[in-house]
Amino acid sequence: MGLPRTAPVAERVIPLLDHRARVLQPPAAAFAPATRLGANGQLTDTMGRPLRDLRISVTDRCNFRCSYCMPKEVFDQEYAYLPQAELLSFEEITRLAKAFVAHGVQKIRLTGGEPLLRKNIELLIEQLASLRTLQGLPLDLTLTTNGALLKRKAASLKAAGLQRVTISLDGLDDSVFQRMNDVAFPVSEVLAGIDAAQAAGLGPIKINMVVKRGTNEQEILPMARHFRGSGMVLRFIEFMDVGATNGWRLNEVLPSGELVRQIHAELPLLALSPSAPGETAERWGYADASGQWDRSAGEIGVISSVTQAFCGSCNRARLSTEGKLYLCLFATQGHDLRGLLRSGAVEADLVSAIGHIWQGRTERYSELRSLQAGDTGTARRVEMSYIGG
Ligand code: SAM
Ligand code: SF4
Ligand code: SF4
Repeated sequence: MGLPRTAPVAERVIPLLDHRARVLQPPAAAFAPATRLGANGQLTDTMGRPLRDLRISVTDRCNFRCSYCMPKEVFDQEYAYLPQAELLSFEEITRLAKAFVAHGVQKIRLTGGEPLLRKNIELLIEQLASLRTLQGLPLDLTLTTNGALLKRKAASLKAAGLQRVTISLDGLDDSVFQRMNDVAFPVSEVLAGIDAAQAAGLGPIKINMVVKRGTNEQEILPMARHFRGSGMVLRFIEFMDVGATNGWRLNEVLPSGELVRQIHAELPLLALSPSAPGETAERWGYADASGQWDRSAGEIGVISSVTQAFCGSCNRARLSTEGKLYLCLFATQGHDLRGLLRSGAVEADLVSAIGHIWQGRTERYSELRSLQAGDTGTARRVEMSYIGG
């Protein structure tokens, strides 16, 4: 089951429990003829939230060691990543994706770990690109990457049917960037990857910057200046308390409100309306001299998962590398869909199981965190590198 190997505890800090092992089985009602669910795109959870967005983690491995996600002390050579046999195959991922799409999913994001490390990822992209939404349209098919392998892969990803990419970049200054990725990876390579993605037509490109107060906040303005007018949307993400290993502290979170004021003082901004229901980022456009949105200068986004919870419109499901369905980024346990697949389930079984699980969804972690004014405890949360961002 891929439990971390026992290690000399005195020398290393490791999670005491392998949270991946906590599994829920799909409810029996999913298979009983009387309560079997079909799909009509109208599925909602207990708070009336539809299912529209699926994030699929294709690997739990990464070539970076960002301290806010996979700190070196935990994710070292001793760490037990999932063995190949535990991973969903591309065929299994596509079968599940099809069942999610039947329930109304319109957007699929491939993530990880670092998704470009998954061998032949282009083959999976080809399979997913052939799916159609309930309206008969192609999916909004995208991928989040740290950009390290993008220079090499941008053209083949586009040819396979990927529409666009989101690239993570936590600063332009090489020493700050290398400190953030913690493997001495040069920023110039990621910038070259961004150029390659643009040249391949993988747009509109989004750039994600996680902001940690006291670590990379000095990069906010240089990043804003760099991407203003580039056609790319820079999004600032508040450092989140995901997982149980990143040593999260509230005083390292730079509230987005403060960040927007900082940029506005040099580059005036105005609030824009959300582009889609369930959109995680609040949009701000660059203003021209008359105070109107200057479309040629573009926009930024802020994702305020800590200071402004957006659970009320959260329409995202997450499928882990080994096929567990998680209903929230901060979930402590997942629902085992791989077991179902490998026990010979047909598509109607998958559709029914996913429907029942989503109908029972009550998760709203960030809202609860806000009510409690801080962290609600890391005890059993899964890691972001496993569940996908
Ligand atoms: N490796 C890819 C990458 O970095 O883009 C994809 C996976 S990564 C887990 C997805 C996103 O989650 C990235 O944009 C990353 O910056 C963000 N992320 C990871 N840990 C985070 C944290 N503690 N707080 C906020 N964002 C985080
Ligand atoms: Fe790797 Fe992405 Fe996590 Fe950084 S944020 S360690 S690049 S998975
Ligand atoms: Fe969605 Fe969970 Fe994030 Fe709330 S905390 S927005 S429910 S993923």
